[in-house]
Amino acid sequence: MAASTFANTSHIFPRHTQVIPPRAARGDGCYILDKDGKQYFDGSGGAAVSCLGHSDPDVIAAVQDQTATLAYAHTSFFSSDPAEELADLLINHAPKGLDRVYFVSGGSEAMESALKLARQYFTEIGQPQRRHVIARRQSYHGNTLGVLSVGGNMWRREQFAPLLIETTHISPCYEYRGRAEGESAFDYGQRVANELEAEIQRLGPDTVMAFVAEPVVGATAGAVPPVEGYFKRVREICDQHGVLLILDEVMCGMGRTGTLFACEQEGVAPDITAIAKGLGAGYQPIGAMLCTKQIYQAIEEGTGFFQHGHTYLGHPVAAAASRAVLRKLTEGGLVKRAAVMGETLNTALQERFGQHPHIGDIRGRGLFRGLELVADRASKAPFAPDLALPKKIKAAAFEAGLLCYPMGGTIDGKTGAHILLAPPFIMTEDQIGEVVDKLDIALRAALPG
Ligand code: PLP
Repeated sequence: MAASTFANTSHIFPRHTQVIPPRAARGDGCYILDKDGKQYFDGSGGAAVSCLGHSDPDVIAAVQDQTATLAYAHTSFFSSDPAEELADLLINHAPKGLDRVYFVSGGSEAMESALKLARQYFTEIGQPQRRHVIARRQSYHGNTLGVLSVGGNMWRREQFAPLLIETTHISPCYEYRGRAEGESAFDYGQRVANELEAEIQRLGPDTVMAFVAEPVVGATAGAVPPVEGYFKRVREICDQHGVLLILDEVMCGMGRTGTLFACEQEGVAPDITAIAKGLGAGYQPIGAMLCTKQIYQAIEEGTGFFQHGHTYLGHPVAAAASRAVLRKLTEGGLVKRAAVMGETLNTALQERFGQHPHIGDIRGRGLFRGLELVADRASKAPFAPDLALPKKIKAAAFEAGLLCYPMGGTIDGKTGAHILLAPPFIMTEDQIGEVVDKLDIALRAALPG
């Protein structure tokens, strides 16, 4: 990866002060081209964002038209056609019970809004003592201070403690490492779901506000799906104790797993959900929080005002882009395509890496796939973190012309590593071959021995 001295080349505050990335010049379908014309297959859609690829003419036209018609109107004065129509579309396709949409500019804002709404809901209905959140280890819900308190990715939190929201963490549903020998997948799921029951009892049921989880865990663990029955049991426990279920679909939502909302495949509906990333597909920054009528009504019949807000709520251009994206995902059949191509990608990954000595697990749903790296397949022993394998794989893949998303800390936030793939839904079968070949080259270059 190109690196030069930070002081001389850029005034941008970079993610890593020692690494200056090359400049992206153009997007073309599934590819990003840099200033020198080198082409990179976007195998991770950035960070699971670019579900339509990079040059979709319909979304570009929607952005151009809306910018020319009405670029911005503050939501304290106006709603707008694109925002209203996008909300209708989302609710028409959302899990049962979700009835209202709150538009923001990204995933962390959507999750912050979800947490504040949950808190206000309980104060409105006279249960202000409910403020404790239960989440899972091996989770990420955003980087702003409120949601950082909830996320279970310890290395991200460490420097910022003490954090804002009282949160405790239970086990994730992580079959590859969690299921005991001889235990069925279903029993394993019930066992880890029952940790929620135990934690609610420990804290006192009337103090718990919400359980927060990603239906399919993304960045922290590499596309880890739940086992069958896990979320049904979670839903049951939440209902029994009046605890809200907040599902974070920021990464796994918007068709990424082969259904528009990942939770559809679990047969459960949340009380609140957050979406972003694929919602704007990278053409505009947009996120949204969806909630049930019951929650909305409590505010409507109570103070009548959600004590929250941002300057760019319901931004007309972002909403117009997203409306075009959502039409392509639903009426245009791209969610179905993600399901089909996801199976093809999975088969190709299994064929190439299924017996790889350093890949212990290949998992995921739709076009959301993860490969867990291990030093030893039999014992599942992880590589030592100081090998910095994710960094090396990312650089080697980049060199080979592939963008993928390797991360460390898969097991406990510090040890373990995985690679996340989240390519555009428009990818072809030939391009699946290209991704697998380039990943193979990267693994050969980066893995020890
Ligand atoms: N929630 C999940 C599950 C995510 O993966 C992310 C980002 O990766 C976020 C929340 C935060 O979204 P954003 O980076 O748009 O603030």
